[in-house]
Amino acid sequence: MLATLVPIPALAATFPEVGHDIDARLDPAARRLEVTDEITLTGDGTLEFRLSPRFARPSVEIDGAAIEIAGNPDGWRVPIQGTGEKRVTITYLGPLAPLDAGGGPFGGEEAGSSPMGSFLPGGAAWLPVIDAERVAYRLTVRVPAGFRAVATGTLIEETPEHTVYSAAPAFEEPSLFVGPWDMRERWAGNLRLRTYFEPDLAGLSDDYLQVAEDQIKRFSDLIGPYPFQGFSILSAPLPVGLGFAGLTYIGRQVLPLPFMRGQSLPHEILHNWWGNGVRVDYATGNWCEGLTTYMADYGLTAERDPEAAREMRFGWLRDYAALPEERDGSLVDFKARVHGAAKIIGYDKSAYLFLMLRDRLGDDAFDRGIRLFWERHRLRQAGWSDLRAAFEATSGQELGEFFHQWVARTGAPRLRLDEATTKRTRGGHALTVRIGQGSPTYRLDVPVVIETAGGKLRRTIALDGLETTATLDLDAEPVAIALDPDYRLFRHLAPGEAPPILRDVTLDPRTRLLLVGPHQDAARELAGRLMDAGATAGRPVAGTPLAIIGTTADVAEALAEHGLRDVPAALGGKGTARVWTASAEGGAPVLVVAADDRASLEALLRPLPHYGRQSYLVFQGREAVDRGVWPPGASPLRRTVTAE
Ligand SMILES: [Zn+2]
Repeated sequence: MLATLVPIPALAATFPEVGHDIDARLDPAARRLEVTDEITLTGDGTLEFRLSPRFARPSVEIDGAAIEIAGNPDGWRVPIQGTGEKRVTITYLGPLAPLDAGGGPFGGEEAGSSPMGSFLPGGAAWLPVIDAERVAYRLTVRVPAGFRAVATGTLIEETPEHTVYSAAPAFEEPSLFVGPWDMRERWAGNLRLRTYFEPDLAGLSDDYLQVAEDQIKRFSDLIGPYPFQGFSILSAPLPVGLGFAGLTYIGRQVLPLPFMRGQSLPHEILHNWWGNGVRVDYATGNWCEGLTTYMADYGLTAERDPEAAREMRFGWLRDYAALPEERDGSLVDFKARVHGAAKIIGYDKSAYLFLMLRDRLGDDAFDRGIRLFWERHRLRQAGWSDLRAAFEATSGQELGEFFHQWVARTGAPRLRLDEATTKRTRGGHALTVRIGQGSPTYRLDVPVVIETAGGKLRRTIALDGLETTATLDLDAEPVAIALDPDYRLFRHLAPGEAPPILRDVTLDPRTRLLLVGPHQDAARELAGRLMDAGATAGRPVAGTPLAIIGTTADVAEALAEHGLRDVPAALGGKGTARVWTASAEGGAPVLVVAADDRASLEALLRPLPHYGRQSYLVFQGREAVDRGVWPPGASPLRRTVTAE
């Protein structure tokens, strides 16, 4: 994901041009930061700047003369008299916050430090924030021996004593990273690729550099030249995975996982084009996670294994099916990933938009549209309407309705297959199909697959309105027909297509929670970790998702009492804890967690929340020894064709 740096609201007078020449000394273990910022600006009026309240009151000089300042950390005010260029020197020091290793995966909003390293994100006001039309930074960093400093921007000088970065013009405030790293470097053409890993992770360096080189080449070929000086991969003491212009900051615990190199790193690299290369106009919705997910996560999967890509599409629709209606949203409203529900819209639905667009435009117009969008908006801000304009230009198609229905609207279509009949014609067979959708309607090209004795045939049926009847002329006699069996449309899955998974219960704020047996404190703690949207304790309510958590015998009793089936035969008696989903009478999903004793229940605390996409699991202690998704039932979107 992309590190989102919140735009700064305007303060007092806006100066046309402000240059920062910063000297920062940082001692990570002591958490001490000392900064001198020499600011060059032109104009007069009141200079107002914001600075984190962590720092002592800054001292300020104008052209070498000390001056009293007024205000507070939200706005320190410096009176500037006379016209012409001024040099304002701001000096301050202070303790940084302890680096919060227990924080979430999205990074801190505050600059933090520890003996393991420091992370000072832009936007955390660790540097004076001044509103100006154009801002430039030159940042000189000094850290104790044994540490290295990396900042966003262009590396211009590197000595054992200090490192200098510059950004002119700067699109965002610099972010600074410090760690006890070894640096390894490789050149790919004129690109400088680096890893900054702790010595114990040095063995991973070559692999990371190779993936970086390969992926930068791949995306450069698809989109246009890589827009920065190089790319660095930094090990973080925090459990993060963040993308910045020209670098990514990845938690040291997850760096060894193959997933990070295979999927996460390409995603972060692609953010150099989408997000940091073309920047997001957040007011009209964040398009960059969807396009990055589509071209990196999905694109690499589809290239490797089409069946895995189909699984990925199904997984996205399955997750969307688990999303309660009140948590659904539009792409316009998506800004950043703050919880699971936002990911389902801002990443998955958004990626689907590009998938459907490619299906509609064809590879050539789509690929040229991507390149044109890059060419037009490189190192500028762009929104959904700019994407639309680029694809309209390369395809010659009017795409207003397409973008409107997928970007501005909340929700997705629900398809119906009403009737399929066939009759012989002189040339072969005429298959008449009646399909429909719920209201409000979408304009769709519905892919259909027709099964014949001679194999499968693929067609599309245009559906614009509540229903349509199409007649398809076929050479072979049709046996059965299925609507969108490969999940190429973003839509609500039909009931039989979606066997229940844990998320059907854990994402729904209406879920009722039933804790049974002697260890209810442990069960409650597990529920707290599991229920993304919270849950109400109490007796089951008909038609509402239900979670039952407790010890095995008590769970069996509760299931019987509420007319629910006991543990599925495939799981009974296995492991130390069993977790499964079922459908109550009336269709509401039920999640059951049955553990043999207190220790087995507590063992689920960490692992279980990661398995939201499963229908069932068997745990032996903390290890999931078996898991899976129940097989789908008969889909109402597939029908045997009847002869007329
Ligand atoms: Zn991302």
